[in-house]
Amino acid sequence: MFRIDLLPAEYGDAIWIEYGRLRRRHRLLIDCGTSAVFPRLRERILALRESDRHFELLVITHVDADHIGGALELLRQQQELGVTFGEIWFNGYVHLTPGGVVPRPEAEDILGPLQGEVLTELIVANGAAKWNAAVQGGALVVPESGPLQVLRQLPGGMKLTLLSPFQGQLDRLRPAWDAACRKAGIVAGAATVDDRTRLDEVEEPREEDDLLGDPDVGQLAARAFKPDRAAPNGTSIALLAEYAGRRALLSGDAFAPVMLDALARLPGNSPGRLRLDAVKMSHHGSRGNTSVELVRAVQCENWLVSTNGKQFRHPDSEAIARVIQDGGAGVKLHFNYRSEFNETWAALGLQRKHGYSTRYPADDGEGIQLDLSTGLAR
Ligand SMILES: [Zn+2]
Repeated sequence: MFRIDLLPAEYGDAIWIEYGRLRRRHRLLIDCGTSAVFPRLRERILALRESDRHFELLVITHVDADHIGGALELLRQQQELGVTFGEIWFNGYVHLTPGGVVPRPEAEDILGPLQGEVLTELIVANGAAKWNAAVQGGALVVPESGPLQVLRQLPGGMKLTLLSPFQGQLDRLRPAWDAACRKAGIVAGAATVDDRTRLDEVEEPREEDDLLGDPDVGQLAARAFKPDRAAPNGTSIALLAEYAGRRALLSGDAFAPVMLDALARLPGNSPGRLRLDAVKMSHHGSRGNTSVELVRAVQCENWLVSTNGKQFRHPDSEAIARVIQDGGAGVKLHFNYRSEFNETWAALGLQRKHGYSTRYPADDGEGIQLDLSTGLAR
């Protein structure tokens, strides 16, 4: 099995992945949504046998509240829940400087450069040796040149290749780190404030879509691509996850040109489209993170969108239109909520005209599930 669950994560991501044999499952968790949705994740963990509450890896893609909020709760309650992690991947303040590595526990200044960030303290409390262990405590960055190698093969055989960030994206976050941490609620003492009140990300004004009738896919897809420039999003960890011949692109909120550059350097990626079995659309289907070039670089049937549309009204119609128009025949859009921002795509006439299909959760708050090894969706 290679099953991807997009848990309900409000306007964020909480991606629960299981792989392996039915009786010997392995797990990894990529982001944990906002703090408000943590109870769902908690329930899910408590439903596991006590002896089975292990994740080979926890990835916290970047410092935004919609990815980190629930992770703070999870790490706080880790002992009580009896959860263990093989490794934790997160680029913290120490990694924003080239060559920066996680200080050894015996180093006296361990909390010095860490700025009292709650998240960092929680990771260290969990065992500093697990932090970015795949790169000996260094930064998770894509090498500047050359073919990309598998960064880590997890127990059970899941292979992970890093596709974002490059050092340049980490450099850009350095001066903005404190502000980003405050916004995400990971500065000491600030983490209990409702993270929704701190969002001050500015979105470009939207062009009003035609509210009457079906959206014009061709026109939407052709709108000029204005790339996302938010420094925290740029530092997102994006991964190619491969197991038993299936491949998924797990893109966090990463930049499209960054992932394009990395995808082109995958060994064996001959000219033409890279075959993938699933793409988790970057930045909740924002138009600034899915370019026509990115869609055309891959051959993929399943496109996953994680958001309830709150805050930023994602997904953007332009991004969805690009996937429908350039994603090839038989595109399937999987939404983990039904919202006023994605239900236009449910129109059957539109689906017939453009040859795609949609899937929404049966019940709100259920999220969606897709098994790449069997093709079964739920
Ligand atoms: Zn996000």
